[in-house]
Amino acid sequence: MYEWSEEHTMIREAVRDFVEKEVRPQREELEFGDTPPYDVIRKLYKTFGMDEMARASFAKRIASEQRASEAATAHSNASERDRSDEKPVAAEAAKASGRDQGGGGAGFMLLPIIELCRCSPGLVTAMGVSTGLAASTIMSRGTVAQKERWALDLLTFDKVGAWAITEADSGSDAFGRMAATAKRDGDEYLLNGSKTFITNGPYADTTVFICKLDEGNPPAERKILSFVLEKGMPGFEQTKPMRKMGMHSSPTGMLFLTDVRVGKDRLLGETEDVPYREGAKEAFSIERVGVAAMSLGIIERCLELSLEYAKTCVRFGKPIGEHQLIQEKLAKMEMHRLNVENMVFRSIEKSSAGAAMTLSEASVMKLYSARAAMEVALEAVQLHGGNGYMAEFEVEQLARDAKVLQIYAGTDEIQISQIARNLLA
Ligand SMILES: Cc1cc2nc3c(=O)[nH]c(=O)nc-3n(C[C@H](O)[C@H](O)[C@H](O)COP(=O)(O)OP(=O)(O)OC[C@H]3O[C@@H](n4cnc5c(N)ncnc54)[C@H](O)[C@@H]3O)c2cc1C
Repeated sequence: MYEWSEEHTMIREAVRDFVEKEVRPQREELEFGDTPPYDVIRKLYKTFGMDEMARASFAKRIASEQRASEAATAHSNASERDRSDEKPVAAEAAKASGRDQGGGGAGFMLLPIIELCRCSPGLVTAMGVSTGLAASTIMSRGTVAQKERWALDLLTFDKVGAWAITEADSGSDAFGRMAATAKRDGDEYLLNGSKTFITNGPYADTTVFICKLDEGNPPAERKILSFVLEKGMPGFEQTKPMRKMGMHSSPTGMLFLTDVRVGKDRLLGETEDVPYREGAKEAFSIERVGVAAMSLGIIERCLELSLEYAKTCVRFGKPIGEHQLIQEKLAKMEMHRLNVENMVFRSIEKSSAGAAMTLSEASVMKLYSARAAMEVALEAVQLHGGNGYMAEFEVEQLARDAKVLQIYAGTDEIQISQIARNLLA
């Protein structure tokens, strides 16, 4: 049976202490003051040495990749060895980017997510997109030079990253209806199109832009490429943050590209021949496990606050926790907490055993936990009565934040269709 170890508990307490001292006092500004979350995230990185760990892990991975590439040219059987070298290297990189799927440290990666989500889930969204999506895409697709140029600063959080696939007219059908294009122009490319709902979009120093190569062929047949853009490039507009329902501590924006001229050095992999979809599946799977950890943080905090309120709020001569309908809510919250925690444990155990989570399994986990987080948060609001509807009480924010877990990283409906497709195959 998997349980949090003593070491996990120590880390958990240290992160909780950080959240209480450094994040909770700023909740008001992060929520309502348009304060970007990046200074707090950087402080977290510095406090726990996450920047130095990322730097060391990056250096190890680059050295290993360089060794592998030297060996590949020197030995005819090198391709075999490269493959066996890939796993630990990828696991290192995943750890550096906060997405450990290949080793026993997955719990250490998920704990900060859970703890931050007890207070400000938006911080995790901003952090996760920068490291888990933008940096990871560069690490999995880029050349060594591209990794050194852009990924390291994202992994240490010295710079902020965005990852842009969603368009107003594509949404869940991201690859199918994508309209953003790259057109060859001599040795360069001209990029055009727009993206929406982009986390960190307004502030990102480095943006991974995903588009289709327009060779005059029908859109459905076009190759999908990814480019790295930087703030201030001519023709590249990053809008100010969009107003939204929740996740206020995670800025979301639109991107507009008009004839943005880039060289091949900005095309990830510097080749048009690396298929985007394959690697994307792995990234989607990791992202979904991350959403389950986020849900657990929200559920834990809602339950904790609800228990406190149920014991202290007296109505009709007794604490509301003694009314059966309130007990039903508490029991349901605990049921979801236990189920989501067990799913998180299962993902850690699989990771420790070196077994990858399949996309379908990750979808089940995401679907269940996002729904559970939403249900628990709404029940927590109900249990708090009018107070639950007031911004002063934390459950109001957690309920608004929880909703997006059913929308981003693949909507509930998309998870369902992927699960069913897998079952029926
Ligand atoms: C706060 C936030 C942050 C985000 N951050 C990023 C980011 O950093 N980068 C990025 O690229 N994107 C990001 N997104 C976009 C997110 O990934 C999309 O919102 C999501 O994929 C859904 O797309 P859509 O919003 O266009 O909904 P749509 O695809 O338009 O869906 C509308 C409705 O139709 C349903 N639907 C669609 N297809 C099917 C189907 N086949 N079967 C049944 N129902 C279906 C959906 O489930 C939904 O209920 C973010 C979104 C939000 C809200």
